[in-house]
Amino acid sequence: MPRIAVVNKEKCNPQGCGGYLCIRVCPVNREGQDCIVIDTDKKVKIDETLCTGCGICPNRCPFGAIDIINLPEALAHPIHRYGRNGFHLYKLPTPVFGQVVGILGRNGIGKSTALKILAGQLKPNLGGDKECSYDDLIKQFKGTEAQHYFEKLKTGKIKVSYKPQQVDLIPKSAHGTVLDLLKKVDEKGTIQDVMRVLDLDQIKNSDIASISGGELQRVAIAACALKKSNLYVFDEPTSYLDIKQRINVSTFIKSLAAPDVAVIVVEHDLLILDAMCDTIHLMYGKEGTYGVVSLPKATRVGINDYLDGHIRDENMRFRDHTLTFIAREPQQKILKTPVLTEWTDVCKQLDHFTLTIASGRLHKQAAYGILGENGTGKTTFVKMLARILPPDVGEIDASVKVSYKPQYIQTDSEELVATLLQHALQHYEVQLIRPLGIKDLLLKPLHTLSGGELQRVAIAHALSQPADLYLLDEPSAFLDVEQRITCAKVIKEVAAARGTTVLVVDHDLMFIDYLSDNLIVFTGQPATDGKATGPFSMEEGMNTFLKELGITVRREKETQRPRINKLDSRLDREQKAQGKLYYT
Ligand code: SF4
Ligand code: SF4
Repeated sequence: MPRIAVVNKEKCNPQGCGGYLCIRVCPVNREGQDCIVIDTDKKVKIDETLCTGCGICPNRCPFGAIDIINLPEALAHPIHRYGRNGFHLYKLPTPVFGQVVGILGRNGIGKSTALKILAGQLKPNLGGDKECSYDDLIKQFKGTEAQHYFEKLKTGKIKVSYKPQQVDLIPKSAHGTVLDLLKKVDEKGTIQDVMRVLDLDQIKNSDIASISGGELQRVAIAACALKKSNLYVFDEPTSYLDIKQRINVSTFIKSLAAPDVAVIVVEHDLLILDAMCDTIHLMYGKEGTYGVVSLPKATRVGINDYLDGHIRDENMRFRDHTLTFIAREPQQKILKTPVLTEWTDVCKQLDHFTLTIASGRLHKQAAYGILGENGTGKTTFVKMLARILPPDVGEIDASVKVSYKPQYIQTDSEELVATLLQHALQHYEVQLIRPLGIKDLLLKPLHTLSGGELQRVAIAHALSQPADLYLLDEPSAFLDVEQRITCAKVIKEVAAARGTTVLVVDHDLMFIDYLSDNLIVFTGQPATDGKATGPFSMEEGMNTFLKELGITVRREKETQRPRINKLDSRLDREQKAQGKLYYT
């Protein structure tokens, strides 16, 4: 059975474990062989050919620095490995001309590595110590679609255009106005069309350094699409976008696929991934240790297998539990528990933006979702509830104790996660620390955390504070699908267990659908005027919101997950005729 041994060098602390504990306990070493030895960097390295997979060292290492994984026979040869005892990637997704191929999987299991190999930006080593040649890759994939792909890549017949994951880094390397930047990459001469479709006309003269995350994302998508290529790769194209923009962007990306053009997308918003892709590859494995790419699947089947944790046609179980959506009828009513807080008709002016909020109230022991386009005042409303901003006209009851997780969480703090989360560690280890996967982060300084790690820490911190009302602004940003579902469950369970109220702003419709009892809906002209109404029952709120978007949503029979109906399909027409745009 093939076996991989991965040593996390950051975690390995030979002094902290009393002096190479793993070497002292390894039965192979005790018999006189060099299975675990001291590496040149004074950390340890493991000889996979000598290791018997007994499991002693990963259990005894006090820092969780070692992973020993027994893999199925089919995974004997990695496509790439990052050095000896480093991350291993097995198999690759296959681009298909004329199709959008999706990749669905956790963070940290090699999606970006796989994309870079396909884009020709990273030459893989097939598990050895040297880069391999295209001929090696062609031989490795003989008889598969990937063979033809690498033959074309070798002969320069594949030109790749790549939209990176971290669009917030773009202003560090690109300067000037949006129009300047896009003109430079406009190889197809379609700049006017693309700017119109992606709603960029209004910001064409803005400096790249001054535009918002959502605008930067659309500029990056436009820049990728304007290049003359036959493989377009989009790494997380919906971060920072609202639902309307996500749907628009997914339609745009779909339109790029042509008989001689392939598109690959990595995406964590399941509703959008589902609507955008023709087929998907699942990726599974262990964060930072190894990742495996499945064979391609029809999108519906692939997503259902992913949620199930079991790839049926490959007979591979990669998770011991199913990610479930609780099937429930859409709430027909608004809640009737006692009132927690209320507000009169409220008005707030911010520069040229006017927000009006119709009078409303929040009830105790309830979960509220907020939906609306970017720039219609959702965050301003939440800040008024959190008493960070006062209303200009009207009143908001200020007597409730509030805990607030802001939308943007950036920090240069050197403080350790464990210090920030001291209270959560003492009181909510089971409810927050474990499910949100924070244990491994405790000894890291806050400024070293990735976007997804920081998000989970901020959620745990907000939910660990004593409060009557928890305000969470975009908690799903930077989280992968599993983390989103876990996070929605944690929020719901914390609110239920403590009898408190939560109010969540988010753009992932599945996430909001999963955790909300009632909805507040924001409408209006982005950046000009916003109007908040509600709370509504889920059915009424979703109907109001989906009407604005012109889409309908149904529930998948097998998993109960929401799915967007194809525009003008039978179900779409039927649901619109019945006025039931939200699943029935
Ligand atoms: Fe010690 Fe763990 Fe490093 Fe081995 S891997 S030397 S047990 S810290
Ligand atoms: Fe040694 Fe391998 Fe056992 Fe670790 S798992 S103690 S390296 S034989």
